[in-house]
Amino acid sequence: MAVLNRVLVAGLPLVPKPIVYRFARRYVAGETLKQAVAQVRGLNGRGAMATLDVLGEEVKDRARAEAFTAECVRVLETISQEGIDSNLSIKPTMFGLEIDEAFCHENIERIVAAAKPRGNFVRIDMEDATTTDATLRIYRDLHARYGNVGCVLQAYMRRTLDDIDALPAEGANVRLCKGIYIEPRRIAWKGYETVRQNFVAALDKLLRKGVYVGIATHDEYLVCAADVLIDGYGLAPDRYEFQMLLGVDEELRDLLIERGHRMRIYTPYGREWYAYSMRRLRENPEIAGHVFRAAFGRS
Ligand SMILES: Cc1cc2nc3c(=O)[nH]c(=O)nc-3n(C[C@H](O)[C@H](O)[C@H](O)COP(=O)(O)OP(=O)(O)OC[C@H]3O[C@@H](n4cnc5c(N)ncnc54)[C@H](O)[C@@H]3O)c2cc1C
Repeated sequence: MAVLNRVLVAGLPLVPKPIVYRFARRYVAGETLKQAVAQVRGLNGRGAMATLDVLGEEVKDRARAEAFTAECVRVLETISQEGIDSNLSIKPTMFGLEIDEAFCHENIERIVAAAKPRGNFVRIDMEDATTTDATLRIYRDLHARYGNVGCVLQAYMRRTLDDIDALPAEGANVRLCKGIYIEPRRIAWKGYETVRQNFVAALDKLLRKGVYVGIATHDEYLVCAADVLIDGYGLAPDRYEFQMLLGVDEELRDLLIERGHRMRIYTPYGREWYAYSMRRLRENPEIAGHVFRAAFGRS
């Protein structure tokens, strides 16, 4: 069955968009900010914080990058006005990283500056390895000048333990995840267990350094390993948080909240839901199988 589902994943682009949307709905808060706010309110009611994400990647023209920047400022204003518990996650390539690093830096600075007086926080997501150095440069500069900004490190990258050494000495806030892009073996660990091992090593190093970590995983093995480290270091619940994607393993989410851990849900919204949802569906071949069968029948 697993093999069949993997074959079906390859055929996902053939499925009509409305059918994909029916299954993708669990991973995206909707197309509008209003829908996203309602979703965050629901999550807050269940004891979870959120991080809102305006969907979109790899912007190639300046006007679009500026429009996304304005949308993110609007998100921050709305979070304040609505009194919901959410910060904001952003992807550098949406703000022009592939056009010009300085232009991207300026756009991200506008967003971080807009968050600052509102007491909010901006997480700069990590994209593929061609963007890592520039993303960390932008992060380090804005962290030094504003403070209310965090970065992401990916456990599959061979450089991650070294990148931890180069974090700001004070007040670093890092999301640690496995990493979602397909990278060459030269720079990325490839084995499933190897990535897990590097995740635990990186988490241990971050916690020893006193970094506030967003532990972003749905892998129960890693959740358990994190629990052991948190217990071993005697960390108070305000020194770290778990993070999960909207719509993924809600049972694990609720179990962690019940155990008194802080939990933040990555809550994407926007008209560009298709690419994001396809990535989520590819990660979950069982659901991809349902999508394909809904479109083309059981045969
Ligand atoms: C809050 C958050 C932010 C992230 N930010 C980034 C980022 O900035 N850069 C980056 O490269 N990656 C990011 N990721 C993605 C991450 O790198 C992984 O690709 C993803 O989380 C899957 O890894 P996992 O640790 O959950 O382990 P896996 O081994 O992939 O999954 C563990 C279990 O969770 C289930 N699961 C995982 N994903 C799904 C899904 N989509 N649907 C249903 N079940 C699923 C699996 O079936 C499996 O049983 C982020 C992830 C999270 C949770």
